[in-house]
Amino acid sequence: MSKRDYYEVLGVSKTATDDEIKKAYRKMALKYHPDKNPGDKEAEEKFKEAAEAYDVLSNADKRARYDQFGHSMGGQQGFGGFGGGGFSMEDIFSQFGDIFGGRFSGQWGGATGGRGRRVNRGSDLRIKVKLTLEEISKGASKTLKIPTLVKCEHCEGTGAKDGKAFSTCSTCNGTGTVVHTQNTFLGPMQSTSTCPSCNGEGKIITERCSHCNGEGVNRQETTVSFNIPAGVADGMILTVRGKGNAPRHGGINGDLLVVIEEVAHPDLIRDGNDVIYNLMLDIPTATLGGSVEVPTITGKARVKIAPGTQPGKVLRLRGKGLPSTEGYGTGDELINIMVYIPENLNSEEKAIFERLQTSENIKPNENTKNRIFSKLRHIFE
Ligand SMILES: [Zn+2]
Ligand SMILES: [Zn+2]
Repeated sequence: MSKRDYYEVLGVSKTATDDEIKKAYRKMALKYHPDKNPGDKEAEEKFKEAAEAYDVLSNADKRARYDQFGHSMGGQQGFGGFGGGGFSMEDIFSQFGDIFGGRFSGQWGGATGGRGRRVNRGSDLRIKVKLTLEEISKGASKTLKIPTLVKCEHCEGTGAKDGKAFSTCSTCNGTGTVVHTQNTFLGPMQSTSTCPSCNGEGKIITERCSHCNGEGVNRQETTVSFNIPAGVADGMILTVRGKGNAPRHGGINGDLLVVIEEVAHPDLIRDGNDVIYNLMLDIPTATLGGSVEVPTITGKARVKIAPGTQPGKVLRLRGKGLPSTEGYGTGDELINIMVYIPENLNSEEKAIFERLQTSENIKPNENTKNRIFSKLRHIFE
């Protein structure tokens, strides 16, 4: 079906002023308003058509392009584009905020998804899961028992005996909504709200289910299994869809929110996807070189210490950190070198140090100081 001309839709001339367009749209919106034409599909289509025409003609830029190219818009994305799917009722009512002063917006919003009955959603559950760095590096799968509200099987979650003991709500005749008429400067306008007698359910329980006391849910230990991807960090929240509480009287389950809690590692400090290990060398090893054992996430590793290793030097074990959750590689382990200066010497050790002290070769001079400090500065930049 080809689209009607927007000027024709609003019944205005091609030279109509902004004010004339606005007035014409108000008239159409009131005439074809869904509350005035309940269940009338043709009126709803006219109502949407007018909203789309107004959206284009009320915007100087869109109107100019429409005047030049018509509905094809010169090869660009067509009009009527709140996401390409044409106008929804929510879009139209949010647009109403501009022209009718916000008075009629909002009634279509929320969790109802249009004019239909409200869809109940259960509440979310939140649990904390403690993970070690080892578990974080590999990812983990967990199976937990969680007290959850689950649908009562005796009444199929309705709360009525055997799922049948209902009568139609007399306040709303089963529609779940009640209609109010407001007098406004545009004349009487109707708006709807949730029926207070049945909470929008459209029906009243005549006899409660004895197993759930009419709630439609029972609290029960539920076994939930889920996977935690590698690389997660403390405080991250993972959502397990549909594993939260069931709502009262049927609907969709809430979600299970898994809050990650990182257990501190005894030796390693996490820094993003890297881990840091503070390695303290003794004076002879730092001076003569050697090989030392260091902890990593995946177990012990040996690292080579070059002769003359200075405190402040950082060694890097590539790939010994944590994987990124987005799959951008793996971090490193950074080994931060410190050198232990002995605090209590016996007389024999003291004699060795006193002998060393007489050697000019072990004393720093201006050259060595500059060389080592510039290397360290390089590390911290
Ligand atoms: Zn029940
Ligand atoms: Zn009702």
